[in-house]
Amino acid sequence: MRIGIGYDIHRFRAGGTLRLGGIEVPDAPQLDGHSDGDGLIHAIIDALLGAAGEGDIGQHFPPGDPSTAGIDSRELLTRVVRLVVSRGYRVHNVDATVVAERPRLGAHLAAMRDSLARCLGVPASSVNVKATTNERLDALGSGEALAAMAVALLEEEVP
Ligand code: MG
Repeated sequence: MRIGIGYDIHRFRAGGTLRLGGIEVPDAPQLDGHSDGDGLIHAIIDALLGAAGEGDIGQHFPPGDPSTAGIDSRELLTRVVRLVVSRGYRVHNVDATVVAERPRLGAHLAAMRDSLARCLGVPASSVNVKATTNERLDALGSGEALAAMAVALLEEEVP
């Protein structure tokens, strides 16, 4: 078994639609970023890369690379899962926490879980997504940004 941790934070844009955990969350602006800004997926990617000993998301998908501009982060996650599997690992489970003052995410967590599980190639029961506020403290608490943290557990594929 190998464990990895991931963290990401993105500022909200003035418009657009929030993409988080691979789904669209209506009535919230998009997150700023080179890709679609899906910080939850980015945290999970870093957790997977960390567990596999494969560096971080910036090494695999350098910001500024025109081929990943505006890309759906599910595509990045799928590529990382493929890499992890090619290194002889299988995803055991992923747990994540989103920290955001807005929007209220409770009604969307199940859809995020299903979407993430599809990319990860695991049953939904192997993925958990939680949401909390920052108690109105700092940039997260003022609604300026959204952060996500994740842990991933990989198991070695039995040859
Ligand atoms: Mg990011």
